[in-house]
Amino acid sequence: MSRQGPSEKIRGSAGQRVKRSREVRMAEKFVGTPKKATTHVNQNENLIFEESSPGKKGYRLAQLDVPAVDASALLGDALRRDGLGMMPELSEIEIVRHFTRLSTWNYAIDLGMYPLGSCTMKYNPRINEAVARLEGLAEAHPYQPESLSQGALGIMKLLSDCLLEITGMDAITLQPAAGAQGELTGLLLVRAYQESKGRARKKILIPDSAHGTNPASAAICGYQVANLRSNALGMVDLAELERMVDEDVAAMMLTNPSTIGVFESEIHKIADILHAKGALLYMDGANMNALVGKTRPGDFGVDVMHLNLHKTFSTPHGGGGPGSGPVACKKILEPFLPQPTIRTNPDGSLGLEYNRPQSIGRVRAWYGNFGMFVRALAYILANGPDGLRQTTEDAVLNANYIRAKLEGVFDLPYKSPSLHEVVFSDRLQSQRKDGQPGVKTGDMGKRLIDYGFHAYTVSFPLVVPGAMMIEPTESESRDELDLLIDALRQIAREAEENPELVRTAPHTTRLQRLDETMAARKPVLRWKGPAAG
Ligand SMILES: *Cc1c(COP(=O)(O)O)cnc(C)c1O
Repeated sequence: MSRQGPSEKIRGSAGQRVKRSREVRMAEKFVGTPKKATTHVNQNENLIFEESSPGKKGYRLAQLDVPAVDASALLGDALRRDGLGMMPELSEIEIVRHFTRLSTWNYAIDLGMYPLGSCTMKYNPRINEAVARLEGLAEAHPYQPESLSQGALGIMKLLSDCLLEITGMDAITLQPAAGAQGELTGLLLVRAYQESKGRARKKILIPDSAHGTNPASAAICGYQVANLRSNALGMVDLAELERMVDEDVAAMMLTNPSTIGVFESEIHKIADILHAKGALLYMDGANMNALVGKTRPGDFGVDVMHLNLHKTFSTPHGGGGPGSGPVACKKILEPFLPQPTIRTNPDGSLGLEYNRPQSIGRVRAWYGNFGMFVRALAYILANGPDGLRQTTEDAVLNANYIRAKLEGVFDLPYKSPSLHEVVFSDRLQSQRKDGQPGVKTGDMGKRLIDYGFHAYTVSFPLVVPGAMMIEPTESESRDELDLLIDALRQIAREAEENPELVRTAPHTTRLQRLDETMAARKPVLRWKGPAAG
């Protein structure tokens, strides 16, 4: 009876008989009761090119009511194509179905919990979307004169002011298009500042728990990276820091709370040690979902930081879509901010300031990803100060609920209090007492797909071998958290009783284990058609 769960979900879809038997086979692959698992409604979908049949159209044009023009006469034959080449030809409903069916292969926050640690995959409130689609905002053009862009400039100014209030910093740029670009921008500010003081410093200190973008940004900015080991609590080792900071260190890049979800409780001392040697403190603010409304980086000694609007401030992310990584800084760095900045004119109107002789220049076309500013501001205003604080508290509570329910089932390498995410390891499952090969974090992550969830973050941060990093965010109800906890407990049981089942997961998806190396090294990104092979 309990095995009925998954098959019920797809009852009524086409090809029921075929699917039921697969459902039964699939159900046998569960030790316990899968609560959410379901196979994809359709397991096979051709490429849209393969669906094409000549002459089909997805549009109908109105009758021509102006004189027809001979394009060849107008443009010359050289510019005229004979046909559409290999463009697919389908009817409107076929196109709609094709893409709708494809979309069901994707996991999304709108389908269920997305516990991908470090990524803050929170719900993107629909009110944000409604506001971003208002005609005056969606259709605004960056070439419009300032006098006709007062609303857009007002949004950028108000968002800037809100972010400065939230971070406790003095000045900000909204230009960078993502967190990593914010890091680069912040480091360029650091370099410009140090050079303005006549210091040609060469090194950036980065703890071993850092996100990979941190050392990459430092290297792109022309710095050497010096690695700082974390202590047993997963925090910066102050004695080690003191030993490493010298006249060659331009700044330290620190993620707070760290990638293991731990707050650097001695952050102010870290700042003091750096400042005493003329070095600056950069904070990777991607984890601000644990701090907003509770504490402010500007108050605990941070000189420059980036925010991820697409994480903390609920603008959509993933799939390469637009992000936004504003950089906030203290007064000493303000002269170097990218240009233009937003200016208040003597008559109270807003404008853009290009006259910034010490600026590092532009980092992005126009003023950044404006649509993200609108969404982030809608989120901030809809929540208000109390709502934002509540959000932070709920995010931390959810992570700690998961920690309390799963500690012991999975190994917890760092016992320091968790903030918005919790990092377990696969030690108990990968190292079996009976000497049999165990299952690894990646296997359990894939098995989670069978239970209807996106995987947690696998094998990151690197300081935890076999890391399983879970960030629930505030969006999830206790019911959804319990489903995840249930699924992970069952996976732990399966790892014990039937490790092969976990090692070969997922079993419910259209494709199982892809060759991830080949996919990265030799990606096939273009359909070439049968003729071209
Ligand atoms: C996500 C993240 C980044 C990078 O942000 P992008 O917007 O993906 O470039 C940097 N640091 C940390 C800690 C992150 O979680």
